[in-house]
Amino acid sequence: MAKLILILGDQLSEQISSLKGADRQCDAVLICEVMAEATYVGHHKKKIAFLFSAMRHFADGLRQAGYQVRYTKIDDPENAGSFTGEVRRAVDALKPTSICVTEPGEWRVLNEMKLWPETLGLQVDMRDDTRFVCSHADFETWVAGRKSLTMEFFYRDMRRRTGLLMRGDEPIGGRWNFDAENRKPAKPDLLRPRHPSFEPDAITAEVLDNVGNLFPDNFGSLDGFRFAVTRADAQTALDSFVTDFLAGFGATQDAMLQDDPYLNHSLLSFYINIGFLDALSVCRAAERAYLEGNAPLNAVEGFIRQIIGWREYMRGIYWHAGPSYVDNNFFQNTRPLPSFYWSGKTDMNCLSIVITETIDHAYAHHIQRLMITGNFALLAGVDPKAVHLWYLEVYADAYEWVELPNVVGMSQFADGGLLGTKPYAASGNYIDRMSDYCGTCRFNPKQRLGENACPFNALYWDFLARNRGRLRANRRLAQPYATWDRMDEGTQQDLRRQAAGFLAKLQ
Ligand code: FAD
Ligand code: SF4
Repeated sequence: MAKLILILGDQLSEQISSLKGADRQCDAVLICEVMAEATYVGHHKKKIAFLFSAMRHFADGLRQAGYQVRYTKIDDPENAGSFTGEVRRAVDALKPTSICVTEPGEWRVLNEMKLWPETLGLQVDMRDDTRFVCSHADFETWVAGRKSLTMEFFYRDMRRRTGLLMRGDEPIGGRWNFDAENRKPAKPDLLRPRHPSFEPDAITAEVLDNVGNLFPDNFGSLDGFRFAVTRADAQTALDSFVTDFLAGFGATQDAMLQDDPYLNHSLLSFYINIGFLDALSVCRAAERAYLEGNAPLNAVEGFIRQIIGWREYMRGIYWHAGPSYVDNNFFQNTRPLPSFYWSGKTDMNCLSIVITETIDHAYAHHIQRLMITGNFALLAGVDPKAVHLWYLEVYADAYEWVELPNVVGMSQFADGGLLGTKPYAASGNYIDRMSDYCGTCRFNPKQRLGENACPFNALYWDFLARNRGRLRANRRLAQPYATWDRMDEGTQQDLRRQAAGFLAKLQ
């Protein structure tokens, strides 16, 4: 036996760097479902099922391509329960001369692997994850000497580097960013095509059984499991997005509708994050749709920006900020996460809808995550670590490298502005404008005081008032603070009392 190549559950690509130069006859590929990874947080049942089924299908594909694959299922009686344990078992059985792995996506696993040369007595060849456009070194070069790490400038560099939507050195359309055209509310549209869904096959059925038996108390429902679990089906999902949804992606990107959880979003993060789809190829498919006249520039630019902009940037921030990033708590918030985050049982219709959709689908789109569940936690002063753990548990696309900066940085502003220029805090007015949630809510988004007032309203002003010392210097908040200052003292006190009364009853 030559090398032992470990492929992790979010590295399911034949192009993964650990497979480069592999000898299909002599090297062994190890893929393992281990309890330590399935339980470091109580992941959504659908997330575990998605990953295990995708891993089993991927392993079959490798075998068909001639690789020697050693696969450990979660219910294998010999399963050692951790990466270290499974690698050790494989080393004892196969006697490889070295171990090869693509760098993992989080500090926790990286720290575990760093011990292997000593504990396993073998050389570990840890390779860069080349699925990203921007390497760690490139990100550090970009960061060096900058006062502000604004994503927009990073994004422009990524556009130049990839040539996406570029004509020479200039952005196509003469502007880098068409976001101003992407903030429209949406109307119910019965003619909107349906996103593709994929019937579980025998492998998935077995996994669903395993997950139902082993993780019965985890968050979420296994009913209606329809994820793509092969690369080919993920490609079908991409094709369908480009054909049916991309053109409308931009305009309705920030919209929310109660009978349409997906709108024109791509539902591709699951597949990109585990390696079934290559991020750059996804962007090229979108760019092609624009060049061929099948989708407008605002939609395609907006979509590409999410991937080579935000996605790459979040990964860069995660590794740049280091493992202590998770401890950031700029506002010193300590409130526990309200229990309705686990059940969806609350009178606030917007939260009830988004959390119930999360329970059902292990998915919510970006604005639901940012402006409903994230916004409420921010306004209510919830401990950002508790918010982070919730997001890591409940979404099928959640991996710490992308979830943590989105939650701690973008959504909770707990890093004090390393990543964002202002907190994403909003009152009921924003939610009313961008969704149809308020029409059937027991609260009134126009009312600030009284029993029927939308809780987001008083909480919004209370958030600004109680954090004034910390946010005073933020010029982007000058206008809301000016509005607050124009209110008479009695109104200010009423709003703060209303917020305090609501928060006191929250648990
Ligand atoms: P679309 O709306 O169709 O967007 C296209 C693609 O762009 C996505 O598939 C994704 O790959 C990328 N993308 C968009 N926004 C972001 C972003 N802010 N950061 C990184 N990539 C982005 N994304 C995750 O992949 N995993 C997470 O755990 C995660 N947690 C989040 C938590 C919070 C509080 C917030 C505000 C955002 C989070 N995001 C996360 C980013 C974003 O919400 C999801 O990527 C997106 O909702 C996935 O759905 P989609 O594929 O339909 O995306
Ligand atoms: Fe949410 Fe307030 Fe609208 Fe109700 S009225 S749905 S609580 S924003």
